[in-house]
Amino acid sequence: MVKAVDGVSFDLAENEVLAVVGESGSGKTVTALSMLRLLPASAKMTGQVLFRGTDVTALREDEARKLRGSRIAMVFQDALAALNPLHRVGNQVAEAIRIHHPEVKRKEARARVVELLDLVGVPNPGARYDEYPHQFSGGMRQRAMIAMAIANDPDVLIADEPTTALDVTTQAQVLEVLQRVRERTGSGMVLITHDLGVVAGVADRVLVMYAGRVVETGGVDQVFHRPQHPYTLGLLTSLPQLAQRGQRRLRRIPGQPPSLIDVPPGCAFHPRCAFARLPEPCASTRPDLSWTTDPGHVAACHFSQQVADAGLATTGEQGS
Ligand code: SF4
Repeated sequence: MVKAVDGVSFDLAENEVLAVVGESGSGKTVTALSMLRLLPASAKMTGQVLFRGTDVTALREDEARKLRGSRIAMVFQDALAALNPLHRVGNQVAEAIRIHHPEVKRKEARARVVELLDLVGVPNPGARYDEYPHQFSGGMRQRAMIAMAIANDPDVLIADEPTTALDVTTQAQVLEVLQRVRERTGSGMVLITHDLGVVAGVADRVLVMYAGRVVETGGVDQVFHRPQHPYTLGLLTSLPQLAQRGQRRLRRIPGQPPSLIDVPPGCAFHPRCAFARLPEPCASTRPDLSWTTDPGHVAACHFSQQVADAGLATTGEQGS
């Protein structure tokens, strides 16, 4: 039994962007797939996913299918794999509309798709409707995926690493598209990423995951300016600083993320943590998420106050 995700809980308001960050294997994508009930049959899920008061986990499969792609939609990680290479891009987006609204005529669906492709910044959308995925660049394919996800004006949009594998210019354009979509639709957005620059630019709140659990969550300003978990602090201090001069080496978090088959006892981060006190309490007692002194900011660390103070000193040092 592998606990890919363990005790994750969060809420999402309308028109809010919640970023979920963490290393590969921390449980970000499994969390997202759980929300849509897209986990493989071998997976066991307990708990609730409440969408406007309805527990998604308790829905019949046909009811869940109606919700998926209409009220809750997802932009998948790999746009090339997610699009069918044998079908024209426009038809694939139109299918997303007609499957949930069979009353929409083909002509109307086409007009709507052209409008959507235009909204997400695909140039000459009327002509590109009839092209195949291989005729689109990586950035354009990602835009088409976003168009497909927002085709039915969902209330919740989950974007799983939408900018991975794109060059920085295209990344910035895709993020701008997501911002535009948010302004236009008012959807709540769960943005899964390992890129803290993306989080700073787009998100309102951030949820940091490590070894399948939430280790810190709060407003982006709170978490970035006063991180209270050593893992978050490590992520932030490993970023290159524009103000940093000279040849100082980048800081790194030592070690590797744990295998979820063999999660360290106590705090799962303790083998990599510079603040750990061993063996007690860090290797014996798992810290629960608890409130910090900032309202809305929680962290799972026995020594969060000390981490916050050290973080202020480090970020001050980096700023200077
Ligand atoms: Fe580090 Fe201990 Fe805090 Fe875990 S509980 S993050 S090991 S100081």
